[in-house]
Amino acid sequence: MENNYYEHCIKLLLERGVTIDDIVICSKHLQAKYNNGLTDEDYYNAVQRVLNKREVQFTIMTGVALDKLADQHVIPDEELQGCILNDEPLYGIDEVLAYSICNLYGSIALTNFGYIDREKFGIIAELNDDHSQCNTFIDDIIGAIAAAAAGNIAHNKGTVKDDKCRK
Ligand code: MG
Repeated sequence: MENNYYEHCIKLLLERGVTIDDIVICSKHLQAKYNNGLTDEDYYNAVQRVLNKREVQFTIMTGVALDKLADQHVIPDEELQGCILNDEPLYGIDEVLAYSICNLYGSIALTNFGYIDREKFGIIAELNDDHSQCNTFIDDIIGAIAAAAAGNIAHNKGTVKDDKCRK
C-alpha cells in the first residue's frame, strides 16, 4: 500500500509538529456526527488512504518546502517572501494548493475543508497560533487531508472497513 514518498511525508509532517493522530482527530471531528459507530481505526485507515496517494504526497512536499523556505527567508521574491511568512490573508494560494487534495475526493471533501479552515479545530488551531515557524501552507494541507478522509468515509459509508475501497 505504501510507496516511496509515504515515509518521507510522514517525516516532513512530524518535523512541522503534525502526527497522523492529529489528522485523525480532525477527520473524526468533521465526520463523526454523520457516521455513528465508526471506530478510531476506521478514521485512521481513511487518513492512511489519503496519505498514500501520490498526488497528496507531492502537495505535502511542495507546501512544507515553501513554509521552510519562508522560515529561512530565501524565497527569491521579497514581496512573496513577506506574503508567505506573514500568512497574508488575501494570498490564498495556500488554500488553492490544498484544494488539489480535496479535488481527489469530491465536493464533500471540499465543503469539509472550507468548514475546518474557518473553524480552526485541533492541530489546525495549534498551527495557526504557533508563531515559532511558518505554517502558512501546512495548516491548509492538514485541513485538506482531514477533509478528504472524511469525504472518503462518507463516500464509502457501510464499506469503510474494506481497505481496498476508493484508494
Ligand atoms: Mg494557510
